[in-house]
Amino acid sequence: MGKGCLKVFKYVVVHELHGLLYFMSAALLYLVITPTRLYTGNRRKMLFVAILTVLSYFYLFYEHIDPDIYILHLIPVSLGFAVLFEGAIPGICTWFAFNIGSYFFLHNEIAPVVAASSCMLLLGLYAHKRFLEGTLTRKIAISMVLLFAYMFVLLSMKPSLMQHSLFIITCLIGSIFSTWLTHYLYFNVKRQEIVKEKLINAEKYQLIGQLAASMSHEIRNPLTISRGFLQIMRKPSLTSEDLEKYIHFAIDGIDQSNAIITDYLNFAKPHVGKIEPIDINEEIKAVMPFITSLALLSNVDIQILPSDENPLIIMGESKKMRQCLLNLTKNGIEAMPDGGSLTIQTLRSQVGVEIIIKDTGVGMRKEQLRSAGLPFYTTKEKGTGLGLMVVNSLLKSMNGRIYFESKPNKGTRCQIVFKDNGKSMKVSGTV
Ligand code: ADP
Ligand code: MG
Repeated sequence: MGKGCLKVFKYVVVHELHGLLYFMSAALLYLVITPTRLYTGNRRKMLFVAILTVLSYFYLFYEHIDPDIYILHLIPVSLGFAVLFEGAIPGICTWFAFNIGSYFFLHNEIAPVVAASSCMLLLGLYAHKRFLEGTLTRKIAISMVLLFAYMFVLLSMKPSLMQHSLFIITCLIGSIFSTWLTHYLYFNVKRQEIVKEKLINAEKYQLIGQLAASMSHEIRNPLTISRGFLQIMRKPSLTSEDLEKYIHFAIDGIDQSNAIITDYLNFAKPHVGKIEPIDINEEIKAVMPFITSLALLSNVDIQILPSDENPLIIMGESKKMRQCLLNLTKNGIEAMPDGGSLTIQTLRSQVGVEIIIKDTGVGMRKEQLRSAGLPFYTTKEKGTGLGLMVVNSLLKSMNGRIYFESKPNKGTRCQIVFKDNGKSMKVSGTV
């Protein structure tokens, strides 16, 4: 008798473990390969369904499955988990997948499984929000209610399952234990994901805070200079020539402070704008008047090479795009104080939509290239060192990437890429 009990116990546990391993692999794989920053909303949920389908296929075709353990353990554990943690779409798809598996592959009776799993699905959909907001203990309590509801409906419609008491008790205990284990694991992995997300945001706010602190320092210098000149201007013995010179210096200092504030605000202000289709070629046309007036002062020749595809559409925000174009072309022109040529090219490549801004200016050495884009890094007397940082931040919000190539005394090539599947793009902050 003892040996028989042990045999049943082992049989159930081994089968439960097999099913559980498949399901947990699907759930954890899903979390690992679909970080929220890359996939959002329904797109992410569809990936859950895809992973579940592939693993269910392997499970149903390559494992030896006990039909009773399947409906007493794997279905309630997986379905409860999917609907409670991930919501409607994954829940409904899991419901479908397991009912199809149960009926078509394992030839279980259809009505009890459909009734029990539907009851669980509906309760899960109802409790989903409360479940997500609750603590781990609350989550497990809600799952237990769902599990018992499932078991109650299943066993009352299929009483034959209760013939082997040891079998059914082991299955029940296994389901309770598996529910607890899956919740505990998933809860912790998900919590890490949330913490990571929060950290990324916190980093940005910390940077904004640091910037604000160093900004006051950066602004104070030009303002002190302006104050000094204004003070000198009080002297009655000044010639009108000197006066003119000092006024010029004082204004310069104030302009410099103003430029720092403008760049900082562009970086720190929350991006509330609407992402919509914009034509890159049109955006370039719109900033041309500003660029040409700058270029005239430095004797720079501008060449525009628009793409064959016209209009060339990306998903973005016109205001941000223009700011990026201005900052980059301004850098290009400023790199050519003795004249040169600036080329702005747009094209559709294999990767997506590209904008290439090339200058024949002073260029950058490797170390300079690494530092460009860091807050307040500038090699210019009147620079703010915030322009490229702003460009990075704006492009990031439009799912764009930026790459630089530069050679000292030869020039700089700046390439902006908007991938076709813009939504899933990652942006490296490096310049
Ligand atoms: P700023 O223009 O105020 O100096 P940016 O962040 O726009 O600040 O640029 C940072 C630094 O990167 C510049 O001071 C310059 O040294 C370098 N840089 C950026 N673009 C170019 C370019 N096209 N050619 C050469 N150097 C550049
Ligand atoms: Mg600049």
